[in-house]
Amino acid sequence: MPRPISATISLPSLRHNLAACAAQFKIANNSPGPQAAPKIWAVIKADAYGHDIENAVQAFELADGLAMLDLGEALRCRKAGWNKPILLLEGFFEPSDLKAIQHYSLTVTLHDAEQIAMLEHAAPASPVNAFVKLNTGMNRLGFEPADYRGAYARIEQLQRRGVVGALGKMTHFARADDSADMTDHQLRLFNETTQGLPGEVSVCNSAGMFIPGCWQSVAPGMAQWGRPGICLYGASPFADRSAQSLGLLPAMTLRSQLISVRTIQAGAGVGYGHIFTARQAMRIGVVACGYADGYPRHASTGTPIVVDGIRTRLLGRVSMDMLIVDLDPVPQARVGSPVVLWGEGGPPVDEVASAAGTISYELLCAVAPRVPKTVI
Ligand SMILES: *Cc1c(COP(=O)(O)O)cnc(C)c1O
Repeated sequence: MPRPISATISLPSLRHNLAACAAQFKIANNSPGPQAAPKIWAVIKADAYGHDIENAVQAFELADGLAMLDLGEALRCRKAGWNKPILLLEGFFEPSDLKAIQHYSLTVTLHDAEQIAMLEHAAPASPVNAFVKLNTGMNRLGFEPADYRGAYARIEQLQRRGVVGALGKMTHFARADDSADMTDHQLRLFNETTQGLPGEVSVCNSAGMFIPGCWQSVAPGMAQWGRPGICLYGASPFADRSAQSLGLLPAMTLRSQLISVRTIQAGAGVGYGHIFTARQAMRIGVVACGYADGYPRHASTGTPIVVDGIRTRLLGRVSMDMLIVDLDPVPQARVGSPVVLWGEGGPPVDEVASAAGTISYELLCAVAPRVPKTVI
């Protein structure tokens, strides 16, 4: 028998989360205001945050577009039958990328003058749709506010030559999860800088979509695209708001089993480095899951884990292929008892991540290829 570990991907949960994001973004509302109904780029970078591109293509069929940054992943979407728009969040890296971008009708992000220069030398085989990115304070990708309108004008010339097709404007929030002031500042700078330029708008990531009134204050009257990522997978972008409180369902459940059970005496150390020592005699169990499966090695004693339906805790250091749990709260546990590391019937992935000093994004992306995936 193979090791008992597996990751279950729930297509119904992925669908539910897309609908929840859309509702949040009022996509389903016939919004009474002047704002056009917003659209959604479902962000599926990093193999759909570890859920598999092909599952995402299937589950997100109601999204208006898919966004990622790897050309290979974009082509997998086309092969899986996705005919709607695809946005490459980092655009292209060298002129030779443009051939596939044209052939597969991919939309690119333009964030640097070097990319414009590459387009100026490109053959207008078929016009490439593009979002022109503004740096409003993330200081990662995007034109500076002072350069933005000049870059836009250069790209509009390419549009007239037939090299570029439809144009849009975008930016990215740095602190939508923790600073309303910074987000306000970024929004204002975006509105000021892009004012009057034609094109659709894309601003809000997951956190931005859940900030009341956020998208309504972007360039009124413009068609707008949200770019939710983490929420689609049932995790929260906020440190202080659970995914459940946002109406989201876990899309990935990481399961395994106990492969050994023992009783240890007071004073006995557990695992590498003996960083946990028993205060009194206790029962412990070994779970077939370790950091080579993608479980975070930095998860500390006390990290929640569910054994046979009961929430208990991790003990000591996570090994490569195993970890050790406290079985005192689970007297019925024995070899073969089911374990949920995160997801449905287990702790939220956000809680495991925070116990390991990281965020759910990292855990979901890091599930190792050796963990078999089951799709429901
Ligand atoms: C990853 C990413 C998103 C999605 O972010 P979440 O926090 O997962 O919602 C949106 N836009 C860009 C440019 C990204 O890189």
